Amino acid sequence: MSEAVFREAVIDLGALSRNVAHLRTVIGTEHVMAVVKANAYGHGSVECARAALDGGADWLGVADLTEAVELRDAGIAAPILAWLHDPDTDFAPAIEAGIDLGLSSKAQLEAVASARRALVAQGRLHGQALVQLKLETGLSRNGIAEHEWDETFGRARELEQEGDIVVRGVFSHVSNASPEDDADAIAFYRRGLERAEVAGLRPELRHIAASAAALRIPDARFNLVRLGISIYGLSPFEGQSSAELGLSPVMTLRGRVAAVRRVPAGKGVSYDYTYRTPHETTLALVPLGYAEGIPRHASNRATVSIGGRVFPVSGRVAMDQFVVDVDDQTVDVGDEVVLFGDPAAGFPSADDWADAAGTINYEIVTRIGPRVQRTFVGRK
Ligand SMILES: *Cc1c(COP(=O)(O)O)cnc(C)c1O
Repeated sequence: MSEAVFREAVIDLGALSRNVAHLRTVIGTEHVMAVVKANAYGHGSVECARAALDGGADWLGVADLTEAVELRDAGIAAPILAWLHDPDTDFAPAIEAGIDLGLSSKAQLEAVASARRALVAQGRLHGQALVQLKLETGLSRNGIAEHEWDETFGRARELEQEGDIVVRGVFSHVSNASPEDDADAIAFYRRGLERAEVAGLRPELRHIAASAAALRIPDARFNLVRLGISIYGLSPFEGQSSAELGLSPVMTLRGRVAAVRRVPAGKGVSYDYTYRTPHETTLALVPLGYAEGIPRHASNRATVSIGGRVFPVSGRVAMDQFVVDVDDQTVDVGDEVVLFGDPAAGFPSADDWADAAGTINYEIVTRIGPRVQRTFVGRK
């Protein structure tokens, strides 16, 4: 790895590409969408999008249009789908940028069609707006409700015939609540596909699975899967590790020891003195705190690696820093501290931090804040 900096997330783009290639082989669908929303789960969206495409993804997925346009502005030409929109969204820039719009209502369809007509009238566009219709099949989030299917599909077909839009896909999302719930959602989705067909729609893309369903439920794969957490080398399953899925964690979060002090027994450490030294010992100060997304809830619970040994966080995680009791280990200011990375290299994992903080690995990596420098390695 490159030389340590104060606070750094080292992002192994080679590992990301290999994860995508491996998933593509294991899952075997015609299309693989790499989900790079939320700054690629904290890993850096543009760099990760490119690495995912290098690994064989042929689609990119994001939540909102700002994220989609950022990828286009960076020169990424691959197809991009965005599926969560403000009620007042101006769809014109995204239509012009050739972004697929994941739509959940007839009102959104109308807004897209009129934005497209305005662009054509201004001579700024010749083609159609690219649309993928999202169906509600159980999660109670966005998506077209069953009782609105016929009307919305019918209107979408009219807008296709008028030349305003092309319905490229029909999709949904599962809850992972249980195998039975997911089977119900898949059956519900199939009924939606049939109704879309009856309305005259011929969506080329059919998708419902994110990482978990793509890996465990062959029936959920259709001809595209949307992979997020797994491409970052993390497992969507409790009790099944990255390594067991053939994946390597992409992010290593590390910093440099900012201060070292030798203290006597009984010394209070960090706010509220929730930790007191059991004997004379050495304390090392790590310059990452909850401003970096380090969960305060992991105080006195999570572990970090210094000089090849693992030590617990001692006392409260503060905004900018926390303390580690390193016992009699020789630690110097400037030494590298790894908070999490690839357990195969002996580091604590994002899953260990998730367990310590009562959350999931998704949240651990995605919340890493802007003061942490992203350093990209392993680029092709
Ligand atoms: C975030 C998201 C995904 C990716 O989910 P993972 O579990 O990270 O693979 C896929 N589809 C939708 C609609 C999402 O919001």
